[in-house]
Amino acid sequence: MNAALLQSLQDLLGDAGFLRGGDLTAYEQDWRKRYSGHAMAVVRPTSTLEVAAIVRLCAMHGVSLVPQGGNTGLVGGSTPDDSGRQILLSLNRMQRIRAIDAANLTVTVEAGCVLQTLQQAAEAQGLLFPLSLAAEGSCTIGGNLATNAGGTQVLRYGNARELCLGLEVVTADGEIWDGLSGLRKDNTGYSLRDLFIGSEGTLGVITAATLKLYPQPLARTTALAICASLEDAVQLLGLAQQRAGAGLTGFELMNRFSLELVQRHFPQLPQPLAGSPWTVLLELSDSESAAHAKTIFEGLLETALERGLIGDAAVAQNLLQSRNFWHLRESIPLAQSLEGLNIKHDIALPVSCVAEFVASTDAALAAAFPGVRLVDFGHLGDGNLHYNVQAPEGIDPAGFLAAHEAAVNGIVFDAVDRYRGSISAEHGIGQLKVDELAARKSKVAISLMRTIKRAIDPLNLFNPGRILR
Ligand code: FAD
Ligand code: ZN
Repeated sequence: MNAALLQSLQDLLGDAGFLRGGDLTAYEQDWRKRYSGHAMAVVRPTSTLEVAAIVRLCAMHGVSLVPQGGNTGLVGGSTPDDSGRQILLSLNRMQRIRAIDAANLTVTVEAGCVLQTLQQAAEAQGLLFPLSLAAEGSCTIGGNLATNAGGTQVLRYGNARELCLGLEVVTADGEIWDGLSGLRKDNTGYSLRDLFIGSEGTLGVITAATLKLYPQPLARTTALAICASLEDAVQLLGLAQQRAGAGLTGFELMNRFSLELVQRHFPQLPQPLAGSPWTVLLELSDSESAAHAKTIFEGLLETALERGLIGDAAVAQNLLQSRNFWHLRESIPLAQSLEGLNIKHDIALPVSCVAEFVASTDAALAAAFPGVRLVDFGHLGDGNLHYNVQAPEGIDPAGFLAAHEAAVNGIVFDAVDRYRGSISAEHGIGQLKVDELAARKSKVAISLMRTIKRAIDPLNLFNPGRILR
């Protein structure tokens, strides 16, 4: 039976669109090399019609599909299991930008388009597609929507969901739902779009999307500021929001240890304000001029100094310096990998609770695991922390992870629950957090999710075992 399916897929897609045998590691292993599997075949359609035909064939043969974009997800959602009985559906040949409507400020793009390519296409027309994350050179629009990606501009522009107006989706029965609306207002029944966004490939295959664009800001300026406490950093955020309003497009947090790791592994990166417990990166976008942005920054930072919220600050004097500041922030995950395996948490909390959460959870972890090193950084403006736990100096990281991951997660996630936070702010559930979700989400919520999954994908064709078991 599978031989018949494989033959049909090969006939449909030809050699370029059908891969079997040979080295398929790029498709079968995830970015962190934490998950790997083995697919029956990798299929690479070039059109929505081909995706629909693939889904119909797989449904007919009862074979499940794992959709994949840039394969940069961090929770094992886009790698096949190791049964050799799943088809890996890569969208990486569907990259067309179908249309840019400058008056409507929208773009319609295929799911496999790389995020950076879309950013550049918008920029070429003087427009901005604001979604921005460190994986933007590889991740795709389909993957961004399927995971409801966040990144560094959420504070001003929202996450992928808020940037999406319409979708085109291939459903489990191989139908094409054309919901490529460019409307900002449309209250015609249930929001099907929102059902597919964030569904991590478990409800349908996103083949195209209509997304919001914005005018390019005339200037962007970045500053670093150091704070003695996290409470001060949160107050600085309030002050910056008050002074800059929608002009505040980034507010990122880095603790001392995260910057020490960057210093250790990337000593060539300048660190103008090293050694403080907390460093904040602020970004202002301005529709007037760079000089105007700098004036706002200087006033804001002066007030912050007077109120004792910051110890010192450095405003980027040019684009290169601005890039270097961002580079510091974006190098933390890499520096952390170079330091060795670690336990990652991508959590969200009400901004008002972040300082208390960090103080109490840091203390609980230090008491349970003396010498443990905490890499706290992330998007403070969104209440989203990457709260990562590194083994004590001199202790084998892999051994620490194997022995203590469950206990560490227990301490961190129990605290997240106490503050009514989220155990997955932006990376999703995938395979990594399936059990944690089942244990911590309310029974009513899990039951509603199961009802939706069964109704939309009754054969469990799409990405089985992800999000829900
Ligand atoms: P993939 O990894 O290929 O897939 C992710 C999930 O989406 C899988 O479940 C897959 O089945 C599903 N999927 C993919 N395409 C489709 C489709 N067309 N239709 C239906 N389902 C589909 N994420 C953030 O949110 N914020 C960050 O700041 C951030 N920073 C990162 C930094 C680095 C260095 C790395 C490696 C990753 C980072 N990520 C971040 C995670 C990752 O980049 C995002 O989750 C991204 O949105 C995944 O896109 P992708 O195309 O690589 O999707
Ligand atoms: Zn992030």
